[in-house]
Amino acid sequence: MNLHEYQARARLKAAGIPVPDGDVASTPEAVEQIAQRIGGGVVVKAQVHVGGRGKAGGIKLAADPHEARMNAEKILGMEIKGLTVQKVLVVPAAEIASESYVGVIMDRTSQRPVFMVSPAGGVDIEEVAATTPEKIFKATVDPRFGILPHQAMDLAFHLYDDIAQVRQAATIMRQLYRAFVDAGASLAEINPLITTPDGRVLALDAKLAIDDNELGRRPDVAELRDLSVEEPSEVKARNASLSYIKLDGNVACCVNGAGLAMATMDLVKYYGGEPANFLDIGGSSSPDKVVAALEIITADPNVKSILFNIFGGITRCDDVANGIVTATGQITIDLPIVIRLTGTNEEIAVEILKRAGFEALTDMDAAVKEAVRLAGEAA
Ligand code: GDP
Ligand code: MN
Repeated sequence: MNLHEYQARARLKAAGIPVPDGDVASTPEAVEQIAQRIGGGVVVKAQVHVGGRGKAGGIKLAADPHEARMNAEKILGMEIKGLTVQKVLVVPAAEIASESYVGVIMDRTSQRPVFMVSPAGGVDIEEVAATTPEKIFKATVDPRFGILPHQAMDLAFHLYDDIAQVRQAATIMRQLYRAFVDAGASLAEINPLITTPDGRVLALDAKLAIDDNELGRRPDVAELRDLSVEEPSEVKARNASLSYIKLDGNVACCVNGAGLAMATMDLVKYYGGEPANFLDIGGSSSPDKVVAALEIITADPNVKSILFNIFGGITRCDDVANGIVTATGQITIDLPIVIRLTGTNEEIAVEILKRAGFEALTDMDAAVKEAVRLAGEAA
């Protein structure tokens, strides 16, 4: 789950990081009022879950409240990378002397949090990593101790020459680490971390990506979820306790178990197809879940064939079969459905499906090939 900038900056502020005051609004009038309250120049910033808002025109400086209102009129409702802007953040315009990058991510290779900093901040950090990797500095954190003072100082010396700024940046890194851990984040990022002409170090942007598995024990973070900006099909899937991720292909996959779901997607690609989604219907599949899964899958207009791949362990094949029959009775599905199931109650399932006019396969390879072929025919 991603947080909006205004949510992330509130958490950074709570951790002690210097963040300019600001407020969110969803109408140009409210933006004007906030700008009036702030006084002087302000920046109006689109609140959407993507980076590169600056380049996309989603961040505009305004000299006075009237201009802030005009900017808000342009930015509210605008689309950035497919997301409609519904809220903007209004902050006092900062004078920038330098822009750097400071971030901490959960690194899978070292299985530890890794700090990354760069004096070449402000712009796309991926681009810096690709073109001038020597400008990125890293430190691996031992989770037992957190980022150590000397590590933070060492990184900060790569950003600034001025010792007062080095100390400020090192403190900010330790505070950022705290915010990262407290939020259950997989990424915490300040880009840009700026210096002002009078020597202060400030966070002008804030990003926190939360590990969804942390939400159960962090209600204060879970309540920050903004459903209005998430993929509707994924929201629906979550409510039905399904693990679903929408993809761009046309072979819909309905599988039990994340490992089998990944293997199924691999096999779809192997036979020249493109999966339309990742979907794990879970270990104990009631017919209801299958109905919800089929509703979600068939709502995606790209889908040209539906592939069930069920390995019955705890999941009973007859439950899945009943789900398929119930769902196809409730919603009209004009798409070819290929069903492969094997394992617990397989014979009963095959019987149920046969009676309803479906064919059931037991071989995964054959089923995937068939689903890819049918999608190709329809495309
Ligand atoms: P992003 O493009 O989505 O990462 O949004 P940022 O919040 O990082 O803003 C992008 C760029 O806009 C920054 O790198 C700055 O160059 C500029 N910017 C943002 N806020 C201010 C500000 O208060 N004053 C000035 N002068 N520039 C700003
Ligand atoms: Mn940024």
